[in-house]
Amino acid sequence: MFLDIKDLELHPIDFQEEFQPGAIELGEELRQRTPLKASGRAELVEEHHGKHQVIQDIRLRGRLSAGLELQCARCLEPVPQEVKREFELLYRPLGADAGKDELSVTDAEAEIGYYQGEGLALEDVLREQILLALPLKVTCRADCKGLCPQCGKNLNQEQCSCSTEVEDPRWAALKDVRERLEH
Ligand SMILES: [Zn+2]
Ligand SMILES: [Zn+2]
Repeated sequence: MFLDIKDLELHPIDFQEEFQPGAIELGEELRQRTPLKASGRAELVEEHHGKHQVIQDIRLRGRLSAGLELQCARCLEPVPQEVKREFELLYRPLGADAGKDELSVTDAEAEIGYYQGEGLALEDVLREQILLALPLKVTCRADCKGLCPQCGKNLNQEQCSCSTEVEDPRWAALKDVRERLEH
């Protein structure tokens, strides 16, 4: 859904959208399990700079929710993750801030972004909001044992034989020393 400045000049745009998995590219490490729902309102905010310059900002308020799946940072198994987020954003024309030390921001509470050209794709906004809402790292459970570094087996599911046989080389060296001292 494209939020066009020309439309916003006439009236605010209310949106209520549903995006099926795959409709918005979220990257390889993220899987979308349920439709992404987003609703809210986009409106134009005009900022007057001096007598002649008018800057057209897009203010976007809304909420989104989606069921996603991340990978466990240790064992790589899928970890379900519900995302719910409310957002209030202000998009300014790219370059509008150039050469200004101080922003005359209309709404100090809002997060600031930039748009280029004729407007803003809602999909781009939602992708960014989803990525911001997610933790950088998840584990499937607090005591996830991860993968065996030798054979790659998931140690939550099975014990492999190599994990006990592999010895830290530093321990082996110490053992050598001790044996020599003892004899
Ligand atoms: Zn795990
Ligand atoms: Zn192993």
